Amino acid sequence: MAYHAPLADMGFALRHGTVLPSVLEAGLFGDLSMDDVEAVLAEAGRFAGEVIAPLNRPADRFGTPFADGAVTTVPGWKEAYRAWREGGWNGLSAPSEWGGQALPHAVNAACTEMWNAASMAFGLGPLLTMAAIDALYAHGSETLKRAYLEKLVTGEWTGTMQLTEPQAGSDVGTLRSRAERAGDGSYRITGQKIFITYGEHDLTENIIHFVLARLPDAPPGTRGISLFLVPKFLLKPDGSPGERNDVRAQAVEHKLGIHGSPTCVMVFGDRGGAKGFLIGEENAGMHCMFTMMNRARLAVGLQGVGIAERATQQALAYARERKQGRTVGMPATQSAAIIGHPDVKRMLLSMRAQTQAARVLCYATAVALDRAERSADEAARWAAHARASLLTPVAKAFSTDIGVEVASLGVQVHGGMGFIEETGAAQHYRDARIASIYEGTNGIQGIDLVTRKLPLNDGAVVETFLAELRRIVEAVNATNDPALGWTGVRLEDAVASLTRTTNWLLAHLDTDHNLALAGASPYLRLFGVAAGGCLLAQQALAALRLNADAASRIALARFFAENFSVQASALEHTVVEGGPGVIAADAALTA
Ligand SMILES: Cc1cc2nc3c(=O)[nH]c(=O)nc-3n(C[C@H](O)[C@H](O)[C@H](O)COP(=O)(O)OP(=O)(O)OC[C@H]3O[C@@H](n4cnc5c(N)ncnc54)[C@H](O)[C@@H]3O)c2cc1C
Repeated sequence: MAYHAPLADMGFALRHGTVLPSVLEAGLFGDLSMDDVEAVLAEAGRFAGEVIAPLNRPADRFGTPFADGAVTTVPGWKEAYRAWREGGWNGLSAPSEWGGQALPHAVNAACTEMWNAASMAFGLGPLLTMAAIDALYAHGSETLKRAYLEKLVTGEWTGTMQLTEPQAGSDVGTLRSRAERAGDGSYRITGQKIFITYGEHDLTENIIHFVLARLPDAPPGTRGISLFLVPKFLLKPDGSPGERNDVRAQAVEHKLGIHGSPTCVMVFGDRGGAKGFLIGEENAGMHCMFTMMNRARLAVGLQGVGIAERATQQALAYARERKQGRTVGMPATQSAAIIGHPDVKRMLLSMRAQTQAARVLCYATAVALDRAERSADEAARWAAHARASLLTPVAKAFSTDIGVEVASLGVQVHGGMGFIEETGAAQHYRDARIASIYEGTNGIQGIDLVTRKLPLNDGAVVETFLAELRRIVEAVNATNDPALGWTGVRLEDAVASLTRTTNWLLAHLDTDHNLALAGASPYLRLFGVAAGGCLLAQQALAALRLNADAASRIALARFFAENFSVQASALEHTVVEGGPGVIAADAALTA
């Protein structure tokens, strides 16, 4: 099944769901215009649809065979990767002094959505390389940057992110990999990492591992973790790959989905220790890793959007073709395309509306990152950084949950054929599932939102965002357009629920932390359905104003508000009243 990048929707979301146009008008990216942005997206869409998407099914079937320590990727993958990196896509938003194009993160976000819609297994590798670039650029020494950064930016070499060990998943502080000072400024790394994405592959001549490990005299927990750069091949004096370092892939996992992405068990130190180089300060590795993870979390959210879009396109095409039963009033001699049945229509609308809500939330997060880096004054940079911090867990968890739900609906729209692998609907469902788990499970994102992000600046960061949502609601109510149905009322209720629940959580964080933790995931969902609904309504208002595709954008915003934002009040009850029931329910789990 083909993938056609939804360029009109992506462009409209960037123009009217985010403040990217004013960022560009303010000259924060030189003379880059929205027209330039849309031209870049069109080219990315062509590449994603024509080059990457056709490899998605073959890669799912081929997997990543592993023999003698080497991984083989599906025929065509290597050529596609080379063409992709030669197109400059890997360094799209990377700094120009290291060979990047320094375009907005928002543009890269839209492209990330497209690579992953075309094939999540393909998009995942570069996603981690881009995150590694951020960490090295922000925290690496000049020597390390000179040796590695340009090759990572151009995609000539790829990067990995290595936190997880058998006993250390969500609880990174329990990791045991060791780093010994070698006396020459470098370190020797020993230990085992599991689940390492693209830890080994045949796409590039070198792989640069970003590895968390613990020094012998390090304090326990996350305060005693350091970040090391460990190349697969050590560099010769001329900077090219030379001697093999003491790190290897031991095995490749068999997984539910993303079969084209090698997930490796990595072993460091068979021969006394892999040579590693410190990034940042000793014992400050979590700080550096958070630079990497925050970038990767948004990108994983975009995987959710991408897979949801792909599943939606496929389901829509199937529903237009497949004939079953009759719609009301149809002659007995005819049968209807299933898209005509209100229940199927509801499924398709749910898919499209949720995908677009997740998309605009992710793009808004990316624009906040751009403003955090480029705004002229310190206060604006701080506020934008705080906004990005607030929205990142929502972008990650809300969008990836939606990825799974939409892909599941995609299977449902196909009926029995959805369960049969030939259609591809099942693959989207299998692929989507991991995104709620890696880069910090969605449960951990909820906890991050509630315990770290809501208290930012004594609650002022979230309150500023809520005030913006209220202004959108006022604008919706002011239109009095009957086509918007209950949109204004439902959004007003949703934002009121979000405000009350936010204040309740802030009040209970210190007094009854367990209640706040019990409500974290439903709160994140509540945040998503309220904010997503408002941002879709904002786009609908713009469409009305401009008379541009207004009927469809209004219909979608209305559908989301009336069917999803309306869940906000129930979620408020879940958080505020349901917590004690969770805490007291141990008996239900004892048998
Ligand atoms: C295909 C794939 C690719 C991956 N790629 C990488 C990679 O490249 N690099 C890397 O380092 N790792 C990678 N991972 C690992 C991934 O990030 C972890 O699986 C994930 O962080 C969860 O850790 P865990 O599997 O140990 O689950 P656990 O931490 O054991 O969690 C199990 C459940 O308990 C919940 N839970 C755990 N702790 C808490 C808590 N304190 N409060 C509330 N709930 C909690 C979780 O939300 C989850 O639902 C990958 C995993 C997979 C499957």
